[in-house]
Amino acid sequence: MIPWIDPHIHMISRTTDDYQRMAYAQCAAVSEPAFWAGFDRGSAAGFHDYFRHLTEFEPKRAAQFHIKHYSWLCINAKEAENVSLSREVIALIPEFLTRPGVLGIGEIGLNKNTANEATIFQEHLDLAAKTDELVLIHTPHLEDKYKGTRMIVDMLKNDPRVKPHRVCIDHVEEHTIRLALDNGFWCGMTLYPTSKCTPARACDMLETFGTDRIMANSAGDWGKSDPLAVPELIQEMKRRGHSEAAIRKVVYDNPLSFWRQANNWKEWPPEPSANGAANAKAAKAGY
Ligand SMILES: [Zn+2]
Repeated sequence: MIPWIDPHIHMISRTTDDYQRMAYAQCAAVSEPAFWAGFDRGSAAGFHDYFRHLTEFEPKRAAQFHIKHYSWLCINAKEAENVSLSREVIALIPEFLTRPGVLGIGEIGLNKNTANEATIFQEHLDLAAKTDELVLIHTPHLEDKYKGTRMIVDMLKNDPRVKPHRVCIDHVEEHTIRLALDNGFWCGMTLYPTSKCTPARACDMLETFGTDRIMANSAGDWGKSDPLAVPELIQEMKRRGHSEAAIRKVVYDNPLSFWRQANNWKEWPPEPSANGAANAKAAKAGY
């Protein structure tokens, strides 16, 4: 079986049984971006507790199933409309950036493409530039997607400190993927049952645009979503005759290559299917 990574899943909204099913399906690791809580939080203290949840509790819950858990920190675009609260939350982030498993700033971005969202997006970018963190970016849904992605790419290009190979633009679709790839960014395809992209469409995009700097995720969250969406893409790629190496590049090697650039990165342990001996050694070393 091919090990895989879900580089964008909100495990806070999922059950422990989901971790178990993901482990059975050979999930090696996840990364969890900070996002909306299902309601607008009333204070910066609420975010402080959330960041503790992401960096303390979820890694332990994942470890019970030998899944490695990483996280990204920010105030999401939905709540960025409250500019003063957003600034208080941004001020909290630096103390968490050195915690184990924190990969960078995310998922920042736009939701309704408003001026306040753009302001807070740029203030997050400023923090990422000053601390040289990786950046994970949410792009808006449906009819707002192209315009929002265009605005995001323009803001990224207007900041000379942004290094495109340290940025991933997520939730790309057929009409936005080129904006990400042609400008040197990484991108994520989200396999989501109600919007965004199906495994078949993701596979079509891989066949059209190649497998460099592309990853796939479930964006599992409060809505109808599937933590086993990445294995569904694996099945679709197999069905179409893609090689094991090509599949593995998309679902495992690419997210890992992106993450490896993180300031906080600790070298990835020998991976499960490589060989039993290395695996046993890693277990002993406490990975
Ligand atoms: Zn998300």
